Amino acid sequence: MLRKSEMLSAVGQLAAGIAHEIRNPLTALKGFTKLMGSGGQHGNYLSIMADELERIEEIVSELLVLAKPQAADFLPKSVASILHDVVMLLETQAIISKVTIETDIEDELPLASCVENQLKQVFINVLKNGVEAMPGGGTFLVKMEKSERGSIRISFIDQGCGIPESKLAKLGQPFYTTKNKGTGLGLMVSYKIIENHRGSMTITNKEGVGTTVVIELPGVP
Ligand code: ADP
Ligand code: MG
Repeated sequence: MLRKSEMLSAVGQLAAGIAHEIRNPLTALKGFTKLMGSGGQHGNYLSIMADELERIEEIVSELLVLAKPQAADFLPKSVASILHDVVMLLETQAIISKVTIETDIEDELPLASCVENQLKQVFINVLKNGVEAMPGGGTFLVKMEKSERGSIRISFIDQGCGIPESKLAKLGQPFYTTKNKGTGLGLMVSYKIIENHRGSMTITNKEGVGTTVVIELPGVP
């Protein structure tokens, strides 16, 4: 675990630094590609370029999240309401895939000291993975409760394809993906963010039943 955490920290800092440097020139390239329009002799090339630039931007913005937040960015917030916002955001996409997202949230949960946008990013990544793992639809249960130690425990229980035992160790490695259009960055970024929040994230798996992602965050006393 320590080795993994050191690797993530080094990779994260490097990646966020590079992502930051790439973003400005990328904006110019995107803008000018758009300006050149899709007509004319090279219209085909231009639209491929626009798509590929879009893809680079997606990867860059995912990596930017790895930049270490400052102490001042952490504020006590209700994790339940952050989760609620994200579920609303992703509900339409879920419905298209015939996935129902059910939430079961305990009353009177402690607040968590967190960077709201980063937690949102984690919830988006985990929820998206769950929905993407259920191409045939199903129920995706999100439970939130207070743990014995007073922390906030969020369980994302999907009924998806699951993860083969042999692949579990690969989760969170940068660029590990089994999807055609995946980036393989979602879980790495999520692990890193949860670690910055002094929390933990564990993924368990029941073959043929689905995957459960459990995130624990320390509560504000
Ligand atoms: P991406 O979603 O871009 O592939 P992630 O880092 O989010 O990258 O996930 C890495 C891989 O882990 C996925 O490609 C998938 O194989 C596996 N995975 C993650 N979450 C789940 C899940 N809920 N069910 C099944 N497989 C999953
Ligand atoms: Mg993902």
